[in-house]
Amino acid sequence: MNTIIEPFRIKSVEPLRHTTPEERQGYLEQAGYNLFLIEARHILIDLLTDSGTNAMSTAQWAAIMRGDESYAGSESFFRLKRVADELTGFRHMVPTHQGRAAERILFTVMCKPGQVVPSNTHFDTTRANIEFTGARAVDLPIPEAADTQAHVDFKGNMDVAALESLVASEGAARIPLVMLTVTNNSGGGQPVSMANIEAVKRVCAQHGIPFYLDACRFAENAWFIREREPGYADWTPKRIAQKMFSLADGCTFSAKKDAFANIGGFLCSNDDRVAQQETNLLILTEGFPTYGGLAGRDLEAIAVGLEEILEPDYLRYRIVSTGYLGRHIADRGVPIVEPPGGHAIYIDAARMLPHIPPRQFPGQALAVELYRHAGIRSVEIGSVMFGDAARHELLRLAIPRRVYTQSHIDYVVEAILEVNARKQQICGMEIVEEPPFLRHFSARFRPHP
Ligand SMILES: *Cc1c(COP(=O)(O)O)cnc(C)c1O
Repeated sequence: MNTIIEPFRIKSVEPLRHTTPEERQGYLEQAGYNLFLIEARHILIDLLTDSGTNAMSTAQWAAIMRGDESYAGSESFFRLKRVADELTGFRHMVPTHQGRAAERILFTVMCKPGQVVPSNTHFDTTRANIEFTGARAVDLPIPEAADTQAHVDFKGNMDVAALESLVASEGAARIPLVMLTVTNNSGGGQPVSMANIEAVKRVCAQHGIPFYLDACRFAENAWFIREREPGYADWTPKRIAQKMFSLADGCTFSAKKDAFANIGGFLCSNDDRVAQQETNLLILTEGFPTYGGLAGRDLEAIAVGLEEILEPDYLRYRIVSTGYLGRHIADRGVPIVEPPGGHAIYIDAARMLPHIPPRQFPGQALAVELYRHAGIRSVEIGSVMFGDAARHELLRLAIPRRVYTQSHIDYVVEAILEVNARKQQICGMEIVEEPPFLRHFSARFRPHP
């Protein structure tokens, strides 16, 4: 049997509401053509993000009822700690309300103005939290990552030679830590190989620099290693993940991704002194160290999710189903970032719509058209989001975990192919109003005349 089915059945459902193209045109006008400003009930298929949009399992919902809401020493904390300790092996773990809270605490403790923090590619909240401390966030992706059409197995890898020359030019003392994002979200959801993690670790160890994983999609990354990297085909995803964590000195984690939760995160470290400072900061803004800004029931959902996410049947389905969307549009002429990533498919909007120049936001134009045509919400990752610093004009279709079935995805494929068939008629956008920073969340647009 070749058909890979959803490895779950449905017990509780949420209705979807259809709207007409005329209604959607009205919602677009009210929202200034910004899909962040459209009410979720007016969306049919929501591929805005895979963050916090997961469907929880019966086991997670059952665990939620068991949540211990004690202020200090909650049983739920110790359940999460047992699961996290077994998986990561780090000496210290504190829960946080989401990934960026872990980042803020970590960088506040580790970074000083003028220092430099390299990564394969920093996620936007990671970059923002590093720069908020006065340090500089530097991306060192491998050169192949610049070519959206290059088929490379581990396109999320860090350029280790570039890391070595950065250490040589800056001096190890100015590099408080090195981050590695698995999978590489801003780099197209592309995986990082175990060999690359080991190589980065070696450079860090040689210079006494702490090495941290941004581990949001550790399980998807582990699956790619199992499928693509020689020597791991008969390892369980859990054993691969344990090896990934064993190479690092700590990690940040958003449970809104690979823990099937709707909120949460944690911060781990092996350094007793750093962990003590982190705990002090946690108490200041997040909460007591046994709940860290979360309810006891959230800690339970994360503990169960961290085990479910490593089930081979789930990960096989997850990676194959994301690839299914990618292949079905790419093989019919829609240019995507190749090869398909773990959690999302990225359409290369500049390549698909060459008649729309970057300053007329081809990714935004495509997002608007896909919503108007079919009620599908996606997100521009290009000049709207990054301004002149944008390296590509992409449209991201992120797949929430366990939420949509194959027929939903078939509908998305059909809609994209229909839009592609008459792409000449899509026109560019212009900004009529924008805030001073993170403009993609609230800018207003109109069709370019
Ligand atoms: C989502 C994400 C974060 C931030 O986590 P939040 O829970 O959204 O605060 C950090 N890094 C990566 C790679 C992410 O995908």
